[in-house]
Amino acid sequence: MASVTETTRTEPVIRVKPTVTNCPTTDTLPSGSSSDSQHSIIEHADEDSVARRLVILGTVLFPLAGLMTAILIASQYGMVRWLDIVMLVGGWYLTGMGITIGYHRMLTHRSFETVTPIRAFWTAMGAFAVEGSPIDWCMVHRKHHQFSDHEGDPHSPHLHDGGMLNQLKGFWHSHTGWLFNSNWSKEERVKYVPDLLEDEMLMAIDNHYVSWVTASLLIPAAIGGAATLLTPEVSLASIAAGAGLGLLWGGLARVCVSHHITWSINSICHIFGSQDYKSSDDSRNNIFFGFLSHGEGWHNNHHAFPTSARHGLKWWQFDLSWVVIRTLEKMGLAWNVKLPSQKQLNSRALD
Ligand SMILES: [Zn+2]
Ligand SMILES: [Zn+2]
Repeated sequence: MASVTETTRTEPVIRVKPTVTNCPTTDTLPSGSSSDSQHSIIEHADEDSVARRLVILGTVLFPLAGLMTAILIASQYGMVRWLDIVMLVGGWYLTGMGITIGYHRMLTHRSFETVTPIRAFWTAMGAFAVEGSPIDWCMVHRKHHQFSDHEGDPHSPHLHDGGMLNQLKGFWHSHTGWLFNSNWSKEERVKYVPDLLEDEMLMAIDNHYVSWVTASLLIPAAIGGAATLLTPEVSLASIAAGAGLGLLWGGLARVCVSHHITWSINSICHIFGSQDYKSSDDSRNNIFFGFLSHGEGWHNNHHAFPTSARHGLKWWQFDLSWVVIRTLEKMGLAWNVKLPSQKQLNSRALD
């Protein structure tokens, strides 16, 4: 069993407006040339909504275009290798768990603690998923928990009026549309993640987020190109084709898959599925996404017990991210692993 039971944040999500009480003021934000330059795109975007929206549009559309192109080339010309599939699936699992284990459970909710190299590894894997810098991702998600499915929630599907058209608008907003409307200002970062802003390792990764995104696409391209050197007939054309396939499958298609699975937690898992626990919102346990999203689909469980390192709370609710965290704990590499007590589970059960 985990060593520490959940003792804090066991109440339903807080529904008061956030305050800056006990938070650092803006002048405590990390400063310095690298920090300032590394957030340049996002800070510039704060000032120029058109530029920000174009960056977001590219982040949404390029991976989707990459996936469609990869499928087209495979179906029309048979150009896909086992290596490309391995990079797609392996990369999806690694970077997906970077989001679930690193960004979500470790950073946002502080569900467990671990040694710095492992903390850096899962944070880096999360950055490779191209879902935003760790600071911004955690800020938005803490805001989601504070207002969940109420005014102020950045990506609730339930804040539109009734009727089929508005329901569709709500779904679109929760899945992708919210990305274009969120206010990701420096002030928001200070308000929601003051603890994370003081984490030097985390800021080092956050400050170079654009570099991580670039590497996330170039690494599979490099592997794909290098693999052709092992084939009998090597040419510049074959290396370029291999690199292109690596970029498409291991880069863009993999990012597209990770994007839509994560976004489905915000949209589908707040609409479709069952509720096992009181959570004061419309979060749902969705068995399909429970398996597909490395355990994040047990979303009602998560909203009921936000700091629990385990989201699949019943024996049959498979939670790959919890398996990894539990394994780290057994190896002595994770501690302060938070779980709800049996009393807390009983007090919120809806049976
Ligand atoms: Zn949620
Ligand atoms: Zn959460």
